[in-house]
Amino acid sequence: MPTAQLINELQSCGVRLVDPKAGHESRRGGACPSDHKAMTIEGTTVMVPVHIAPAFASPYFVEKPDDLGRSRISRDGVTLGEVSFPVRPRFYDRTTADGIPYWKIAVLHGRDVLATTVLQTCIRYQSRTKTCRFCAIGQSLAAGRTVERKTPAQLAEVAKVAVALDGVSHMVMTTGTPPGRDRGAAILAESAAAVKAAVDLPIQGQCEPPDDDAWFVRMKQSGIDALGMHLEAVTPQIRARIMPGKAQVPLDRYFEAFAAAVAVFGRGQVSTYILAGLGDTRDAILGTSEKLIALGVYPFVVPFVPISGTPLESHPPPQPGFMHEILQPLALMLRAAGLRATDIKAGCGRCGACSALSTYERNADQGAIA
Ligand code: SF4
Repeated sequence: MPTAQLINELQSCGVRLVDPKAGHESRRGGACPSDHKAMTIEGTTVMVPVHIAPAFASPYFVEKPDDLGRSRISRDGVTLGEVSFPVRPRFYDRTTADGIPYWKIAVLHGRDVLATTVLQTCIRYQSRTKTCRFCAIGQSLAAGRTVERKTPAQLAEVAKVAVALDGVSHMVMTTGTPPGRDRGAAILAESAAAVKAAVDLPIQGQCEPPDDDAWFVRMKQSGIDALGMHLEAVTPQIRARIMPGKAQVPLDRYFEAFAAAVAVFGRGQVSTYILAGLGDTRDAILGTSEKLIALGVYPFVVPFVPISGTPLESHPPPQPGFMHEILQPLALMLRAAGLRATDIKAGCGRCGACSALSTYERNADQGAIA
């Protein structure tokens, strides 16, 4: 298992690749953290930035992989170990019944996660004054790498084949925020219902808090097993600066929604994504995490990675030491509360590839940190 420190460093510094085509296509643009490539180091799959400016000057270097996708990683000329790249998923070669390549409907994340952005547009993205400054949801659409609206039938078709051919074990459905009071809950619910009718696959839905908490029951009944409502930043001033549109939904509403969602999905099955490095202090992130954990919400803290073409493309990723100062005490807090990444049925917290948090959790379980 790679050390948590190594994962922090790789995710902060990125890596230089001799062969940028190593592995299958990297994520570029989109609604999730992006410009990464999945690589597996000593059995742990991590998403590592490869297309951002800091990666071009990274001290970490990956040689051209062999035919089986195996390569070596070094730092300053000293070999650290073997890495391997997931091979191109077989489902990428298929086309839907209505003629869309499967890889435009959903992609492989990490090692075994099927990820899709059901609606590739967002009410907040249309306006320069409202858009989340880290988000690239429109870029992959503009580049023709995805389609705007994935239909329930398309998602069901792709999910069934991805399970059969590539062994995906859970699915992440995120969405841009549509106009309307449900904030995307309705399209997630109809999509999950179609997928669940086609294949038994745990699903995480990700959306903003809907106006009516009754949507949590509807989403659960439709087949969504776990829910993500993502704070991204936790301090009101940072939220207003980084995501001026989304910050109009107050933190109090998020916390009300978290409590209502935990009552439906269960402790540990509701999570939130927190991007460290956008300006929130260590204490602010840990203080918010403490409140979240008390509610039964899993705070998935990941290092911010700047995406090319966004207003924050020149914003530096956080230092590895900053991540360590957050993730180590956070892992201990999670352990004390009995919340674990491995108990999450589906989603980013279970995948864990965008953060070293689950490695810290394992260290805490083994008594390696206290
Ligand atoms: S943690 Fe979430 S965003 Fe990151 S690779 Fe896994 S599923 Fe994708």
